[in-house]
Amino acid sequence: MPNEKIPYKIYLNEDEMPRAWYNLRADMKRKPAPLLNPGTHQPMTAEELSGVFCEELVKQELDDTTANFEIPEEIRNFYKMYRPSPLVRAYCLEERLDTPAKIYYKFEGNNTSGSHKLNSAIAQAYYAKKQGLKGVTTETGAGQWGTALSMACAYLGLDCKVYMVKCSYEQKPFRREVMRTYGASVTPSPSMDTQVGRKILAEHPGTTGSLGCAISEAVETAVGSEGYRYVLGSVLNQVMLHQSVIGLEAKAALDKYGVKPDTIIGCAGGGSNLGGLIAPFMGQKLRGEADYRFIAVEPASCPSLTRGVYAYDFCDTGMVCPLAKMYTLGSGFIPSANHAGGLRYHGMSSTLSELYHQGLMEATSVKQTEVFEAAEYFARVEGILPAPESSHAIRVAIDEARKCKETGEEKTILFGLTGTGYFDMTAYEKFHDGQMEDYIPTDAELEQYRNTLPKIG
Ligand SMILES: *Cc1c(COP(=O)(O)O)cnc(C)c1O
Repeated sequence: MPNEKIPYKIYLNEDEMPRAWYNLRADMKRKPAPLLNPGTHQPMTAEELSGVFCEELVKQELDDTTANFEIPEEIRNFYKMYRPSPLVRAYCLEERLDTPAKIYYKFEGNNTSGSHKLNSAIAQAYYAKKQGLKGVTTETGAGQWGTALSMACAYLGLDCKVYMVKCSYEQKPFRREVMRTYGASVTPSPSMDTQVGRKILAEHPGTTGSLGCAISEAVETAVGSEGYRYVLGSVLNQVMLHQSVIGLEAKAALDKYGVKPDTIIGCAGGGSNLGGLIAPFMGQKLRGEADYRFIAVEPASCPSLTRGVYAYDFCDTGMVCPLAKMYTLGSGFIPSANHAGGLRYHGMSSTLSELYHQGLMEATSVKQTEVFEAAEYFARVEGILPAPESSHAIRVAIDEARKCKETGEEKTILFGLTGTGYFDMTAYEKFHDGQMEDYIPTDAELEQYRNTLPKIG
């Protein structure tokens, strides 16, 4: 049907929805490096990991040979409440840009939590419930992950303890209240509840916290509480596996109309949405069946792929988590306080890091004022109010479409629109008032954090 007019939104019928998640690592010849025990520097065993994570999730984390993991029926039923997420042909944007490019975006903001994070939250909560656990602990920065997890836990009747980075806890009371509406307990981090929190507060009184620190607190609480495990919203292999539903749906929808994207673009924080979006396409590339250009977009103020080093690093500030080999800025790195655009994590998924290292994916960084310009442009043309994180991908998609106008190339661009920006209006306000500044760390600043990397082997 390649000549059929492509609708504004391509949906999938229930019987066209993915029945299995796709594990991209199965098709990688050179696999991502394993997680290491922070004490012994030996690969983490399933047994060691199962003290922190649910058993089934540990299996998914360590499995780099099984290509497909069946999505349990209960999770598929939950997905049906808000999936398939729309795949939109951005006709209005194309017209406004006057570009010969054809632009598509996969919109993940169509659920109450407002982002793609619910795709993995429900999976992780499901396996915790199945294991007979009482509850889970986690960290949240801006609050999207905590919100998604609270929704999933409420649905399954699990307890949910969220450590929320203190500055967000204070600046984003609405997100906090959404989480509490879904029954989660929300603690500002660093807190006096944990050893690591007390230590960080003693060393840095008045600190407003960081993701790395909140992770340490959540892990400590999970390990110390009977019937609890820790769950993480990005970075890990298991999260990328669950997020493959984004790419699988997008590919199924495009295939229905015989459309093959040339360029696939996504924003990259910890890498889960991008990894999920590109998974089936990258799989084809790895198997030599098709070629695509992949672009990861990160903030200039937190440039782990474009300016980080590829090395083993701590995933958290308290150095209690396993070590991961990834592009990293150093676990002590905290982006400047005036960075409003999300994507603040110091490292990047091991899988995406390895793909980037092998030259299979490109990366670029953008400044936050350029990101908000693109966000506003997009909102006015396509109607959706995008999350600042998602707007990194919008920025680069628009730039690529403008290049097509110059060259006359009719490229097909697909990008991930990961969420809505309703809770980010303080950042939009700053942008509108002309008070948003761009911050780009100097080489000397980055060097200083690089020195905190653990020495391995
Ligand atoms: C969390 C989040 C991201 C970044 O996380 P990844 O793990 O890199 O996908 C992007 N967009 C939105 C809306 C988010 O909430």
